[in-house]
Amino acid sequence: MSEQLAEWLLSARSAVAFTGAGISTESGIPDFRSVGGIWSQAQPVYFEEFLASEESRYEYWRQKAVSGRDFNDAAPNEAHRVLSEWEQQGLLHGVITQNIDGLHQDAGSRSVLELHGTSRDVACLECDWREPSSEWVARFERDDRVPDCPSCKGIIKHATISFGQSLPEAVLAAAADWSRDCDLFLAMGSSLVVEPAASLPRMAQEQDARLVIINRDTTPLDRMANLVIQGSLGEILSETARCVRSSE
Ligand code: NAD
Repeated sequence: MSEQLAEWLLSARSAVAFTGAGISTESGIPDFRSVGGIWSQAQPVYFEEFLASEESRYEYWRQKAVSGRDFNDAAPNEAHRVLSEWEQQGLLHGVITQNIDGLHQDAGSRSVLELHGTSRDVACLECDWREPSSEWVARFERDDRVPDCPSCKGIIKHATISFGQSLPEAVLAAAADWSRDCDLFLAMGSSLVVEPAASLPRMAQEQDARLVIINRDTTPLDRMANLVIQGSLGEILSETARCVRSSE
């Protein structure tokens, strides 16, 4: 199956990768929906609750401090590195990611659309203030209180899209364009159940792109895919990269 994928990648006019939390589990960051995933440990704080009460903001920052430990310790794994290599070789147009961990960029990918923002920064909801998150999480832990914007005293939060918050329109539009324009769409490490994860692969297929799904578990879109590869992304992408190198 890796040979087939390598062949399609080498002959594609424009290939696009779509990644979810599953690409980062081999870097030590748990996903959401697997056993032991983030949702088995805490209930997410919805954006409306975050805005409405100091107590919810405290719970949000507490959760971010915990997940921040996983994120700070994480380095890109083989799957992130292979996608970066393919971009540099001109085989991949870019990566659309649901992830907020910044590991694609750490691996060297330059063409990355972050649908859910980034946890690397915190930003003010009321003014343009934005800074790296690490210092602000450390401050929260030291003071045991939610920090305010140092510029306007407004509410600050990680530059990620919380549940109940709208996705950034320009990024979403670019992701839809990439999906409609590609002729090979690689969905990997996503359960493909939430939007827009569920619809971008469909958009690609409606324009006759080949759809390849690589995931450890089955997904609702497996039936419509041209190829489904189940297993570890690190192993599958390493093997595919070897096939690509040997056919060049
Ligand atoms: P998900 O948790 O719904 O699904 C992850 C999928 O990845 C699962 O179906 C699982 O079978 C698969 N998987 C896990 N490890 C794998 C591996 N090593 N190889 C192959 N497949 C593997 O994740 P989702 O669809 O991305 O949705 C969750 C949301 O949570 C995203 O929108 C994202 O913003 C957020 N999130 C991000 C991170 C991160 O940035 N690393 C981590 C957790 C959650």
